[in-house]
Amino acid sequence: GQFKLGRRAAATETAATEVVEEEGEQFEFQAEVGRVMDIIVNSLYSNKDVFLRELVSNSADACDKKRFLALTEGDAEPEPMNLRISTDKEARTLTIEDNGVGMLKEELQENLGRIARSGTANFVKELKSGESDVSLIGQFGVGFYSAFLVATKIEVYSRSFKATPEEQKTWKWTSTGGSYSLKEEPDVQLFGLQSGTKIVLTLREEAQEYLDSGKLSDLVKRYSEFITFPIELWNEKV
Ligand code: ADP
Ligand code: MG
Repeated sequence: GQFKLGRRAAATETAATEVVEEEGEQFEFQAEVGRVMDIIVNSLYSNKDVFLRELVSNSADACDKKRFLALTEGDAEPEPMNLRISTDKEARTLTIEDNGVGMLKEELQENLGRIARSGTANFVKELKSGESDVSLIGQFGVGFYSAFLVATKIEVYSRSFKATPEEQKTWKWTSTGGSYSLKEEPDVQLFGLQSGTKIVLTLREEAQEYLDSGKLSDLVKRYSEFITFPIELWNEKV
């Protein structure tokens, strides 16, 4: 099938033949990001489930951040927050959505294009100095990029709670691994009335199991133990 290539092979290919399939501004990932993606995909291929733990915890963090912002500096009472996980079997997509703090355009670039966060940055540093064992990686937070374990394409739609009403825009970040694009997406529906983030994963051929509601509900039960926001599991098309 067309999705059999791993990240490493795909990255080598895109270097030679960059295919721009999305409109919008194109950006290169910081070099370290490519390295982290390679490490994640190559060391966790037998432990793919962790991607859901990472995306669920990011969504819960985003809800915490919105609650905190609203308490400390916002005038707006935050809407009740929750996570929603849904599948579309026809489109072979898995979607994780929250009505948390969301991201501005610059935050999408900073957070999903670079290794700015301490956890991953330290991990890369340790790997470089030979202190860290790659086989232990699954125990650490491996972060957003672990979504490439199961996805050939990641689309992130986000609207920020921090934006003023005049600059309220929904942004779409898209990547198939080699680079990413950003564009405004005014027509997309997010369930968050104030703000939120929706992540749509187009699943790899070998990751179709994540369309299965039994598998998903098992995982969600496992990873939601410490999540204080409700998680809804939806199956749009069966
Ligand atoms: P970490 O969670 O350790 O910071 P990640 O790679 O998981 O690292 O995520 C990177 C950053 O992207 C987060 O710190 C956050 O700023 C942003 N982010 C990821 N997912 C979301 C989301 N659902 N809503 C808002 N921001 C997010
Ligand atoms: Mg995270």
